[in-house]
Amino acid sequence: MTSDLSAVADAIRSNDRFLLVTHENPDGDALGSILATKLALDALGKDSVMYLGGELALPPEYAFLPLEQLSRSLPDDAAERVILALDSATASRTQLDPELLAAAPLTIDVDHHHDNTRYGRINLIVPDASSTGEIVRDLLLELGVELTPEIAEAIYIALDTDTGRFQYTNTTPKAHLLAAELMGHDVVPQEVYRRIYESVPFARQKLKGRALERAALFEGGRMIASYLLRSDFEELGVGEEYAEGVIDELRSVQGVELAMTVREPPEPPGAPRRISMRSASDLLDVSAIARQRGGGGHPRAAGFSSGESVEEIIEFVRSEFANAAAGA
Ligand code: 5GP
Ligand code: MN
Repeated sequence: MTSDLSAVADAIRSNDRFLLVTHENPDGDALGSILATKLALDALGKDSVMYLGGELALPPEYAFLPLEQLSRSLPDDAAERVILALDSATASRTQLDPELLAAAPLTIDVDHHHDNTRYGRINLIVPDASSTGEIVRDLLLELGVELTPEIAEAIYIALDTDTGRFQYTNTTPKAHLLAAELMGHDVVPQEVYRRIYESVPFARQKLKGRALERAALFEGGRMIASYLLRSDFEELGVGEEYAEGVIDELRSVQGVELAMTVREPPEPPGAPRRISMRSASDLLDVSAIARQRGGGGHPRAAGFSSGESVEEIIEFVRSEFANAAAGA
């Protein structure tokens, strides 16, 4: 890990032009990590461009972040830039053309997903890290980049959101120490909380209401599942990004070990359904279920896509869960 860290730092020092990427449908860790890295590269005098693949709009709670420079199209000189991917477990989740990845002068993969496919020439994968933001902090130390309030806040958002506000099992002593350090650089947790969690668009709560209304228990209450239809998004006039967080409400139900949602992306028409799963038990690895359908993620948070019907998808997960529970 130390050698990987210095290899990434060396590669950053010895190159000048970068293309920073993260995973499609980005969360707080993805956005906080790419922004912190961009600001750090600016401080080092490097030329870097932030690029976000996919069609989805940013989740509304991150609209306050200074991400004006996050481009949805590639720069003309993309093929000449070193690709630095953050928080993306696979190359395909960056939505970059495989030919561009193959042609890049260098690809660096910085991530904390345990099932990261190590698609970079240099890979800095730290499964014990609470968030990719935490790895970025270590990288900045290695590079000698000072924390500014803007960098500190971006890292804090990565840390805060990926640990479920310091409640998930990835909330390590190191995560808390990092939070304390960031507060020493002008981060105000209450302010971040207010902007991310208390600025909820009304339509998002209505969408959540629909999912909660339809939620059903399986396996004697140990599994919970719900779904959002294309018509739900259309009637409320919102994009798929508004569904973020619905799964957390399901997971919080008493006795639940596996929570899942199926959502039908409103755009593009006919896109495969997207499945999110969360495990509330160390004995249940939902990324193993996701991998059977070409997806992946963490043991406790994973996802996949499927063209099957909502009923078929829920039945697939239910039977996998029943098998896993029987085998455990
Ligand atoms: P979410 O349910 O929040 O979309 O995703 C939960 C976790 O699973 C995230 O860490 C995400 O990276 C991962 N994940 C979700 N969908 C996919 C997928 O289709 N492929 C892979 N490899 N990982 C996924
Ligand atoms: Mn992450």
